[in-house]
Amino acid sequence: MNVLVVEDNRELAENIGMFLEGRDHTVDFATDGRMGLRMAAGGDYDVIVLDLGLPGMDGLEVCRRLRTDAGQSTPVLIVTARESHNDKMHGLAAGANDYLVKPFALSALEARLLALVRPAEPKDGFRIGTGP
Ligand code: CA
Repeated sequence: MNVLVVEDNRELAENIGMFLEGRDHTVDFATDGRMGLRMAAGGDYDVIVLDLGLPGMDGLEVCRRLRTDAGQSTPVLIVTARESHNDKMHGLAAGANDYLVKPFALSALEARLLALVRPAEPKDGFRIGTGP
């Protein structure tokens, strides 16, 4: 996967980067919201890891603008220390696809990202409409 990590915590960003690169993914980094939005808007990524608490522009705003202004549908996984139901709802309303609360296992992060990039095919039995 080609992953964009938007995270101002350098240590966490490095940990995520080292883990994912060790698993043969490519990782780019943005350390503030505006930089993250600019990079994400280019559409060169399979998936975006987005922190909510960012300098410049917070993660919710980045996500909202990515979906509206930039018209990009790249999957977004929000990572945050906030864990209230409200924050989760706001994240999903802003166009995020999934949500992971810090601290998290890096293997869990990768699994969530893979699920976003390669959604499961619907089973034949669930297909509605014509066909044998
Ligand atoms: Ca942060």
